[in-house]
Amino acid sequence: MQTSEPSTASPLKLETGLDSNTDGFDRHEPPEQSLIDACVHCGFCLTTCPSYRVIGKETDSPRGRIYLMDAINKGEADLTEAAVSHFDSCLGCLACTTACPSGVQYDRLIDSVRSQVNRNHPRSLPARALRGLIFSLFPYPDRIRLLLSPLALYQWLGVSKLVRSTGLLDRWSPQLAAMESILPTVTPQCFQDNLPETVPAQEPKRYRVGMILGCVQRVFFSNVNEATARVLSANGCEVVIPKSQGCCSALPSHQGETDQAQALARQMIDSFADTEVDYIIINAAGCGHTLKDYGHILKDDPDYRERGIAFSNKVRDVQEFLAEVGLSAKLSALSDQPLKLVYKDACHLRHGQGITQPPRQLLQQIPGVTLTEPMDAALCCGSAGVYNMLQPDVANELGQMKATNLVNTGASLIASSNPGCALQIQKHLAQQGQTVPLMHPIELLDRSIAGEQLE
Ligand code: SF4
Ligand code: SF4
Repeated sequence: MQTSEPSTASPLKLETGLDSNTDGFDRHEPPEQSLIDACVHCGFCLTTCPSYRVIGKETDSPRGRIYLMDAINKGEADLTEAAVSHFDSCLGCLACTTACPSGVQYDRLIDSVRSQVNRNHPRSLPARALRGLIFSLFPYPDRIRLLLSPLALYQWLGVSKLVRSTGLLDRWSPQLAAMESILPTVTPQCFQDNLPETVPAQEPKRYRVGMILGCVQRVFFSNVNEATARVLSANGCEVVIPKSQGCCSALPSHQGETDQAQALARQMIDSFADTEVDYIIINAAGCGHTLKDYGHILKDDPDYRERGIAFSNKVRDVQEFLAEVGLSAKLSALSDQPLKLVYKDACHLRHGQGITQPPRQLLQQIPGVTLTEPMDAALCCGSAGVYNMLQPDVANELGQMKATNLVNTGASLIASSNPGCALQIQKHLAQQGQTVPLMHPIELLDRSIAGEQLE
């Protein structure tokens, strides 16, 4: 696949499937025409778009998709299989919103379109089965945990290695093979939550904060959650961790599963209802972006709309929060030697929340650390929630590029703030035979505060 120069093709020349007889959008929240009209078709967003970068077609760029939305809204095109494939190829990375000089709210547009596609486009049986599996499993830690024992056995008996080396699953279902390829190693820590409901602050106490555990993060990256609680505590925060909390709704929300997203958002708001916290802290980029958007997700719910806005106003990414309030804990060097790190931006931090400097500022406060920047730092790694499972070809190409760019910095460690990005990068590092370790920035701060050196 190749990248072509940004095209100025007329919308009439786009491959929209105009000859089909299938219907367009329904009348429940089609993409807002005023948001579509804000696009002046300048094309500045094209080179920042990962799907355009890999596929190389206008129809798989932000501008092309906006043309397509416009045509469907006006009844000039239908929601055909071809049209849906162009919407599906979007990673939702939001790089186009950062690049757009006209302030086009592409995130709102694609959110509307995804819900429309879910309601109005019948997907194939295998596609429905895969999506059903993803949305009935991943947002529910208890259900993931039911599968841990067979998964541990599968890994322990070496079946996983066999499946990967023979490529059999890949030939049968590339999507299931992609899911299998990023499966983290099941450890004893995965089976239960190890944090108490309250972690006391180390004196002097400065804040009382709530902490979100996530769903995949909670099961497979409990070490990151534990490090987060320790770092917050060491910096004067009493940490409240309600046991009743579930998924933040990021996964269904980003895929247009509106009813499920709203139900999960309400449950999250209820979980923190009586906690009286100053802030609500999250350590995963994709979740943070959604948690800050509850006012919009629940905009049609009179009972929860205002509560959603109040909740979101308290949400902070942990790095954003620590950089804002300042570290009070003392940091020590992680190595006797100077340590060269590369920070890998997560799209939902960089583009979704505009958070680029706080993680870098915090890492640079660790004695002996120097930071380096990779080529194409703003380009998505291809993880994008469940995109790497649904669209493995494009995701693999982006993952390979990102892993190569990170390795080429010569850094001895990669810092990344999102579990999905971590799994994607680790997969592609392994495929390239690279052994550069990857950690969440909060784990590095935790080690530094504890005075522990990296092995
Ligand atoms: S969200 Fe990302 S993948 Fe989708 S159009 Fe924008 S830049 Fe391209
Ligand atoms: S979305 Fe923004 S940057 Fe992209 S073509 Fe439209 S106006 Fe230009």
